Amino acid sequence: MKDASKRISIIGAGIAGIAAAIRLALQGHQVTVYEANDYPGGKVFEWEFEGYRFDMGPTVFTMPAYLEELFDLAGKNMGDYIEILQPEVPFHYFFGDGLVLHFYSDLEKLITEIATKTNDSPEAIKAYFKNVETKFELTKNVFLHNSLNILSNYLTKDALRGMLRIGEVDVFTSMDKSNRVAFRDQRTVDLFNSFASYLGSNPYKAPGVLNVISHFQINGGVYLPVGGMQSILNALYTLACELGVTFQFGQKVERILVQDKKACGISVQGQDFPSDLVISNMDVYFTYKHLMPDQVEPKKVLDHPKSHSVMVFHWGMKKSFPQLALHNMFLSSDMSDEYNTIYKNADIGDHFTYYINISKKINEGDAPDGCENWYVLVNAPNLQGQDWDAMQQKVRKKLLAKLALALGEDVEPCIQFERIRDPRDHARQTNIAFGAIYGNSFDQTFSAFLRHSNFSKRIENLYFCGGLSTLEVVSH
Ligand SMILES: Cc1cc2nc3c(=O)[nH]c(=O)nc-3n(C[C@H](O)[C@H](O)[C@H](O)COP(=O)(O)OP(=O)(O)OC[C@H]3O[C@@H](n4cnc5c(N)ncnc54)[C@H](O)[C@@H]3O)c2cc1C
Repeated sequence: MKDASKRISIIGAGIAGIAAAIRLALQGHQVTVYEANDYPGGKVFEWEFEGYRFDMGPTVFTMPAYLEELFDLAGKNMGDYIEILQPEVPFHYFFGDGLVLHFYSDLEKLITEIATKTNDSPEAIKAYFKNVETKFELTKNVFLHNSLNILSNYLTKDALRGMLRIGEVDVFTSMDKSNRVAFRDQRTVDLFNSFASYLGSNPYKAPGVLNVISHFQINGGVYLPVGGMQSILNALYTLACELGVTFQFGQKVERILVQDKKACGISVQGQDFPSDLVISNMDVYFTYKHLMPDQVEPKKVLDHPKSHSVMVFHWGMKKSFPQLALHNMFLSSDMSDEYNTIYKNADIGDHFTYYINISKKINEGDAPDGCENWYVLVNAPNLQGQDWDAMQQKVRKKLLAKLALALGEDVEPCIQFERIRDPRDHARQTNIAFGAIYGNSFDQTFSAFLRHSNFSKRIENLYFCGGLSTLEVVSH
């Protein structure tokens, strides 16, 4: 995509669609982003109610360097657009036996904390932190920064080095098995297994190489922008507009126009808009099923099992809880049963892990004085015809009972108002198949190969970006 100025249509103004628009506008192209919703951001959006503000999608922010890269490319100072803070203790981990671990940003403190409170040694923890960093270094040029689907990408020095040391990255074992080799305390194993949920995957099936996810939190750090996650979106949207990207909101794309095996535009509400290139930021599954029903589908990719999803309770709490941090992970006492129930029974059982985000801990203005904005997330199966209204009530009841036990008090009377979102809402809001918020699951050894590449192999001038298609974080 390095030749003279082209007209480019991007379908979807999710964070990846906006990032792609920025890169392409910087290369001198005329970029128009068509977004079905009447706002930018896709899964990144906020809700304000009665003096409370909630981030409704992502809450854990790692690797701000990838964000900064976009401002650097544009010759701008990211600090003029967004202020990013790094909390000293971003996470508290709560275990069934009453143990509470403080996840310090400072690595030495973190190692001491885990070693003091579990049966794992500082050496074992240090070695693990080094190991996940090595996994990142060895794999980043194979499948994070480059496409897995271009043969020449395997022939670079870095990629070859990664392939030669494949034994070190645990491709042929599961995340859980790899963690059990590293640690002897089941609680430490559970802590690091819980990172599988960042990809909507099952730690007992997903390959051990995906323990690399914890590298971003451990070695990269956890951040929060002033104003919450919404500020990331606002900063990128402002930058894109400054660079001349055009946004068309309330424009649901109905077709990708294809002629002689080349994408040549899109169609919205019966009107055709020609372009030289088309980039889909929407779910790859629906891109094929809805926008190109007459084209040959990449069947293996589309038929691959999907990730699990989440149910989120947004609670306006009329009380503060000093024992809680910005992020709080309450780990299941039987994680294996939790994932079996999700994947085999398509249900949420008794042993679910839950996570509470309270952005008020950092952003004073996110709730009234003495109050907190709770975002309580529970891993959930994807949409398989369940009775979600009944499931919401069942999970809510169990959740309140678990919280009463963990915090030593009944929190229900503190809930001033609530909004509950389940996979049906995720599916509706951003048009995703089965409400599977991470697209294809990573539950097989070579699952990474069963995600779509960021370009079409059959249709020229058609590209993909975003969390529901590719794995790559940088455009092809
Ligand atoms: C509840 C929840 C919690 C999460 N937590 C985290 C977290 O803590 N940390 C993290 O890193 N990630 C998290 N994620 C994942 C993260 O939000 C996504 O990976 C990311 O936002 C995906 O961005 P995207 O641009 O790829 O896709 P999307 O945000 O889905 O954007 C796609 C866009 O395409 C639009 N669209 C779809 N169809 C059409 C059409 N036909 N025409 C026009 N537009 C269309 C949609 O409206 C949408 O705006 C979470 C996700 C959810 C739902």
